[in-house]
Order: sequence, then structure tokens, then C-alpha cells
Amino acid sequence: MSERGRDHAHDDRNLRYPLQAMDPSMSIAEFQQMIRDRYYASDSTRGIPGTFLWFAEEFGELAEALARRERGDGDQQNLEEEFADVLAWLATLANVADVDLTRAIERKYLRDGGPKGTK
Ligand SMILES: [Mg+2]
Repeated sequence: MSERGRDHAHDDRNLRYPLQAMDPSMSIAEFQQMIRDRYYASDSTRGIPGTFLWFAEEFGELAEALARRERGDGDQQNLEEEFADVLAWLATLANVADVDLTRAIERKYLRDGGPKGTK
């Protein structure tokens, strides 16, 4: 993680989902809650514009990792980390914007068979 990782670094002793205990089958709702438990105080103070910038920067890091892969000099571990970063910052944004990702996904992609046609 880049220097911004420090922004999210703090004590996780009292969290519902301490990282070392993460279940690999953790649901999206559980992940969003974990992100809320860990970071909501600082995230809500930063607000949506600042949080979106962090998300956009992670999005760019994912693009860089994918571009390196396309050029044949990719680092799979780094690529996986960037996917995780984007997902974490998406969950962060959802928390700050009062969006329940599970409900949003259900409404958009699951209910009534989801969107018609190709995505
Ligand atoms: Mg990153």
C-alpha cells in the first residue's frame, strides 16, 4: 500500500473483524462492516470528495498494475493488492455515502434476474 495506508492504519484490537481473523468466505456485507469498524471515524471526517480522491488514486494504481501485466512484466501479488485496495476504498466510499453495497447489488444485479443483455 502507498503512503496513504497510514491514513487507515490504527489499532484493530476491538474490531468485529480483526484482519488476522478474516474468513476467506467473508461476505460483501461483512467486508463493508469491517471497513466501517476500522475506518469510519476518519473516513466520515474526510468526507466524500477527499475519499473519492483516494479511491481514484487506487483506481489508477490498479490501472498501472494491469498495464504492467499487459506489457508482460506484471506482478501478480501487486495486482491482487490493487484489486483489494480498490474494493476497500469502494466500501469506504459506500460507508461515507450511506450506501449498503449488498442491498445495492441485490437491487441492481440480482433482483428480477438483474440487468438484461451484456454488461
Ligand atoms: Mg494501492
